[in-house]
Amino acid sequence: MIARCFNPTCAAPFQYLRGGKLFVRDSGNYGKGGTGVSQRHVEHFWLCGSCARSVTLDLQARKPQVIPLTTQRRSAGSRQLSDTRR
Ligand SMILES: [Zn+2]
Repeated sequence: MIARCFNPTCAAPFQYLRGGKLFVRDSGNYGKGGTGVSQRHVEHFWLCGSCARSVTLDLQARKPQVIPLTTQRRSAGSRQLSDTRR
């Protein structure tokens, strides 16, 4: 589960999606879970509200990278969720 902001220079704790942006990466890989049932591997990453205003995540990399919003690239294999509806 998400514990804090993904930005390594920030230590904001994850608090019930009250702010910031949640990123979801679906690797498309299926693996066997502890129950022996195939499970899709989905990763979640969160940027706090403060970080989300200036940076975003590049989910195309093997390990997600924090990048400035000005160099944001469209990533077809991922989607970005907003928490503003709660
Ligand atoms: Zn942050």
